[in-house]
Amino acid sequence: MAFSFTLIKKDSPTGARLGRLVTAHGEVETPAFMPVGTAGSVKAISPRDLEEIGCQMILANTYHLYLRPGVEVIRELGGLHRFTGWSRSILTDSGGYQVFSLGALRKITEEGVHFQSHLDGSSHLLTPERVVQIQEQLGSDIAMVLDECIPHPESREYVRASTLRTARWAERSLKARIKGDQALFGIIQGGMYEDLRLECAREMIPMPFDGFAVGGLGVGEGESTLHTVGAFAVGLLPEDRPRYLMGVGRPEDLIFAVRSGYDLFDCVLPTRNARNGSLFTSTGKINIRRAEYASDPRPADESCECYCCRHFSRAYLRHLHQAGEILAAYLLTLHNLAFYHRLMERLRRAIREDRFQELNTEFRSQNSELGRDGSPDF
Ligand SMILES: [Zn+2]
Repeated sequence: MAFSFTLIKKDSPTGARLGRLVTAHGEVETPAFMPVGTAGSVKAISPRDLEEIGCQMILANTYHLYLRPGVEVIRELGGLHRFTGWSRSILTDSGGYQVFSLGALRKITEEGVHFQSHLDGSSHLLTPERVVQIQEQLGSDIAMVLDECIPHPESREYVRASTLRTARWAERSLKARIKGDQALFGIIQGGMYEDLRLECAREMIPMPFDGFAVGGLGVGEGESTLHTVGAFAVGLLPEDRPRYLMGVGRPEDLIFAVRSGYDLFDCVLPTRNARNGSLFTSTGKINIRRAEYASDPRPADESCECYCCRHFSRAYLRHLHQAGEILAAYLLTLHNLAFYHRLMERLRRAIREDRFQELNTEFRSQNSELGRDGSPDF
């Protein structure tokens, strides 16, 4: 089935949008959050549990899968869905971000990125064409173009040169497509410079991408810059295609981004935090390692109905974590992802029922009352 996106409703007082993506592996109601399945697995949790908490699409990392186990193995075993046992939608990133953050001795040329594997030091070249080919072989539902995620801070001169190269790479990526049932998204870069974001958008928006992402945010620029540049960049994107804010995902950032008109999100925060004992709850973030929870009979979050919260006390969760039991990682991940998916569900419902602004105001007052961590009351 061909990829499609339908904009169902737009919240007129804000920019929030309710939409529906259709991929070869089902429907995704947007705004949607994608848990990160780095190496073809969302760490510590099974596909069955992800389905149970309402997860519609996961993100998998091309860089990691390309290096291990290798694209050939996955292709021979029927593609990423069959290989991982996840039957709903998958978005694969381009690998660019990992090449720049993990790959040693990387060198960027017009042709592509030369790098050495962080696993065994072997040499590789990823070009825009090769990255499209790899993602087609993996068989994901949405593929991303190769881009350079520019570090922050970086000089305007470098950001401009890199951004224009990303735009040229985007054009090459489109020409390299063979499969008709995989969507391909372009990525708007430009660092923290609004005029460069605009220049990048002018180059890329006329290209026939199935959706657009805003990349290069959430790289340590601080909340105020993230929100300013993020809101500016989303305004450059066409209404009729999905808009994906890459790698940004504190709950308060998601609320901001949905309000601004983004549709898709991914972030390692709920899963990584869980493994560190950090939980999102309706009364703010807590760390289960703290001594105050040693004999606390309450669930992780009293207003959560996930399996973890229905069955286990904070005292037991703390004990599991302290004892290094792997069940802790599973239960805490399950809860954090359930929290994120419930948040997205509530945001979607609020847009549908014309209550988004009301909900947004409710959040703000709760956050200021809580005065800690800014986690919303969900
Ligand atoms: Zn829970």
